[in-house]
Amino acid sequence: MDRGSDLAKNKKPKHRLQKFRPEWLKNQLFKMWLMPNNFNEYEAYYKFCKQTIKSERIVLKNHALSKKHKAIM
Ligand SMILES: [Zn+2]
Repeated sequence: MDRGSDLAKNKKPKHRLQKFRPEWLKNQLFKMWLMPNNFNEYEAYYKFCKQTIKSERIVLKNHALSKKHKAIM
C-alpha cells in the first residue's frame, strides 16, 4: 500500500463498501464494544475506543485483536 490507506478522506475503494451487519452484535468477539453508526450504515462505532471505522468484518476483527483495543479492554 502506498499513500495513506488509513485516511478516511481521499478514499477510492476498489471493493464494494459493506454495510453494518446486525449479526455482528451477536458475535462474542464484537458484541461488548461494537455499535452501529446510526449516521452511516457503512460504518461501525467502537464504544470503548470511541472510534468510527468501516463496517467490514476483517477490519472489526483486526481491531478486536489490536493492542490499542486490548489495552482499553
Ligand atoms: Zn476497541
